[in-house]
Amino acid sequence: MSAQHPDTMTPGDLVRIYRRMREYGLNDPHSGNASLRHGRQVWITPHGAWAEELTEAELVLLDLDSEIPASASWDTPLHCATYRKRETHGAVLHGHGLYSVAVSLLGESSFEPLDFEGRLSFPCVPIVDSSRETPFEDAARAVSEALREYPLAIVRGHGVYSAAASLEEAWHQLAALEWSAELAWLYRGHAPRTDRGTAGPAGFRTRSRLSRKSAKTPRRRSRS
Ligand SMILES: [Zn+2]
Repeated sequence: MSAQHPDTMTPGDLVRIYRRMREYGLNDPHSGNASLRHGRQVWITPHGAWAEELTEAELVLLDLDSEIPASASWDTPLHCATYRKRETHGAVLHGHGLYSVAVSLLGESSFEPLDFEGRLSFPCVPIVDSSRETPFEDAARAVSEALREYPLAIVRGHGVYSAAASLEEAWHQLAALEWSAELAWLYRGHAPRTDRGTAGPAGFRTRSRLSRKSAKTPRRRSRS
């Protein structure tokens, strides 16, 4: 795990990690969001962020005690609630890893990894629900509460939230959960994905074909 100290995290690191989430296939070009916190200040990705093109200048800076700017991610209340409930959290990442979402659809209230590393790092990952009517409000309440105690939480059928002291630690948790979820999925006898790209730097599979294709995707407004 990285030894990155929370105090050394920069907005540039936030852009780098958000892009990495996309590069490793944990988000589509416009989905997911990411933030880092220094004291009462929070930098967060904007609503409609485009992973391949995001710049530091597009990040939204806000104060935990002030109104949320309209340009910030629609998940900003969730990030702020998570920081308010646990002072040691310095970064929150949100991704849509396919296997992490898939295991949330099996009707269970938590995901328990089968592999050694997963059981060691996050033996129980809560799975919370959100309603169709108020999905953002429900997720903000349930996820921030779960992340007070756990490093990761999954919103059923939607995606994963990872919180830690640093961006690198939050990234490690997010990627490791996807790995554990894929292993558990395969162990249960489910079919693997068939659109896999090449193996990434850490043996993690990337979606290189999809990444190149997405570079030409016209910009659109995402819901998070
Ligand atoms: Zn999402």
